[in-house]
Amino acid sequence: MRSCPVVDRLACEAMDQEDPLRAFRAEFVLPDKEIYLVGNSLGAPPRTAAERVRQAVEDEWGRHLVGGWNEAGWYAQPLTTGDRLAPLIGAGPGEVVAGNTTSIAVYQAVSAALRLRPGRRVVVVDRRNFPTDNYVIEGLAELRDVSEGRFEDAAAVLLSEVDYRTGARYDVPGMTARVQAAGALMIWDVCHSVGALRVDVSAADLAVGCTYKYLNGGPGAPAFLWVSPRHQTAAENVLSGWYSHAEPFAFEPGYRAADGIRRFTVSTPHVLSFAALEAALDMWDRVDLEQVRAKSMALTSLFIDLVGDRLELASPREAERRGSQVSFYHPDGYPVMRALIDRGVHGDFRAPDILRFGFAPLYTRFTDVWDATQIIAEVLEKELWRDEKYAVRLAVT
Ligand SMILES: *Cc1c(COP(=O)(O)O)cnc(C)c1O
Repeated sequence: MRSCPVVDRLACEAMDQEDPLRAFRAEFVLPDKEIYLVGNSLGAPPRTAAERVRQAVEDEWGRHLVGGWNEAGWYAQPLTTGDRLAPLIGAGPGEVVAGNTTSIAVYQAVSAALRLRPGRRVVVVDRRNFPTDNYVIEGLAELRDVSEGRFEDAAAVLLSEVDYRTGARYDVPGMTARVQAAGALMIWDVCHSVGALRVDVSAADLAVGCTYKYLNGGPGAPAFLWVSPRHQTAAENVLSGWYSHAEPFAFEPGYRAADGIRRFTVSTPHVLSFAALEAALDMWDRVDLEQVRAKSMALTSLFIDLVGDRLELASPREAERRGSQVSFYHPDGYPVMRALIDRGVHGDFRAPDILRFGFAPLYTRFTDVWDATQIIAEVLEKELWRDEKYAVRLAVT
């Protein structure tokens, strides 16, 4: 039996009117007629991003040239931007470095954990982790799946707070306590939770994340690494590039690690990418994360209700147990998603059979949820996805 829709489009319009975050949508560049439900993969651009990048090129690079490293604060970017990201993950100043990519941060975090737990060679992961995390760890340690529940000989456990495929959310405090009680270090990957809910890694040991998903930092935006203050003197950075040296401009022949979080920087920051991220963070400074979480739970719950039993739900039904995405199983997920995109509903497909829809609370409306579900219903009922043009795979799904 099909579950009865609890609302209509008018009710969704009313919800948009009452949404305390509604004004943020106008601060993004978004296509008029399309419904963008991929903000969990690449966030939409803040309107100020282009101007901030122009400023970095013309006013900073163009005016100061090499002097920009001092005059425009480029040299300090990994730390100043790290401090701005810290409140979004429950961390304090001097605990986060920004730069590089998530995969590089995973490499640094896991290597540091292995050195902090000499004699332990196992790193526990979830086999369903985003593959890059596990691929990187495969090069460093012996892997074991978290489902075995054995941590006593593990150097570290690395998990994603929110599963990229299903949106299922781990119990962060509970898992952190279990792992630490076994003497292992807890490393959280918050790529799919930062900017979607109130992340708090403060009880853990290390954390990594990216800024181009819910945080809207732009394609290729800098990632970040958090190191608990408890470990900052003992933890080592295996990517001991010159930025992490105690005195980078002494150009000494040998390496001496810097104190504090600067030890985890690597080398020259991607200044123009940082500029775009700074524009996004100017917006995040004004965002109430409780409102973000409340709206995210309302959007995703409404979407699940309106899709009803047309598709098999892959995400947890209980809002508390999910991030800000909803996934469904469909054996022909790829052509179904192509047919939806053709009709202006942008989600994505994750092999082998997942249809994924992300709900970025700063710019997704309740009316978008309504409109998207009408199109989903039509594509499924009329089997519009069976058109053979949707069968050919594109390089990026
Ligand atoms: C998006 C994502 C990544 C991406 O890694 P990059 O090195 O930035 O390409 C890694 N891990 C998780 C959990 C992700 O969601």
